[in-house]
Amino acid sequence: MAIGNKYRPDYVAPPGLILREHLEARGQSPEEFARDCDRSPEFIRGLLAGESALDEATAQRFEDLLNLRAYIWLRCEAGYRRHLSRQAEARRVAATSNWSESFPIKELVKRGAIEKPESEADAVFRLLHFFEVWTPAEWQEMYGAGSVIYSRLPQCSGETARLAAWRRIGELEAEWQRGSDYNAASFLDALTRIRRLTGQPPVAVWPQAVQLCNDAGVVLTLVKPFAALDLRGSAWRLSSRQAIIQLGNPRQPAGRLWQTFFHAAAHLLLHSNPCDGNFFIDPDSRQNADVENEANRWVSDFLLAAASA
Ligand SMILES: [Zn+2]
Repeated sequence: MAIGNKYRPDYVAPPGLILREHLEARGQSPEEFARDCDRSPEFIRGLLAGESALDEATAQRFEDLLNLRAYIWLRCEAGYRRHLSRQAEARRVAATSNWSESFPIKELVKRGAIEKPESEADAVFRLLHFFEVWTPAEWQEMYGAGSVIYSRLPQCSGETARLAAWRRIGELEAEWQRGSDYNAASFLDALTRIRRLTGQPPVAVWPQAVQLCNDAGVVLTLVKPFAALDLRGSAWRLSSRQAIIQLGNPRQPAGRLWQTFFHAAAHLLLHSNPCDGNFFIDPDSRQNADVENEANRWVSDFLLAAASA
């Protein structure tokens, strides 16, 4: 049985599987149980096979007989139905397009972000699950080129897909870094403290920098970019309560790493708000020179003030 990816399992147990375990524990046959709960044996066998749908009245009956709350049965049923509908959409997409081909599937598998797909439809399914969307259209809206503002707009769909996968890994990592709500004043304070750490090797002070950022509502991640993506860092708001700074290329020199970090921080402080969907990415040579100059000027002023403090 597939156990799913390292971030979020992409296998969903049908309620029939839980029922099977209960019946085995009770030593009861499907037919006996069907009689106990006033349902037909065909229905119970269908449920065990993941074919029949579980309704509310039956879930209540299961609660009475098996001592497992009805809402748990129904939640399990709803999750299973969603899983089936995503699988159906994946089959449809695979039959009508080559949507999955732009994504760095092998690399995503290597990084434990998705399970190795068994077919093209399976690849589409795992990608939809990874991005937590239901259709390529929804993916396009959330991660496609049109959603990326102030960026070096990717020139081909492959680049957009690799960029989106990189960003998504950061979003999933962010779930492990729950801190305080985002607060610009605390973040500024955190930056002053992090500035004092930058004389030491990044690897030695990274956990401290992450903690300081988290305490101010900012997730700090380091995710190696996918092949052919020249990325040093990016920043965006995940929600009104959380922002993220994601740096790429862990092997860049320490000075440049911190420069990228403070530059991304400047974008958060100066240019982001939770609703605009701005996604800042650097290097950012082709557009929005004003925004870039503003961020660079902020970093120079900040570092100068910190040095003379
Ligand atoms: Zn920038």
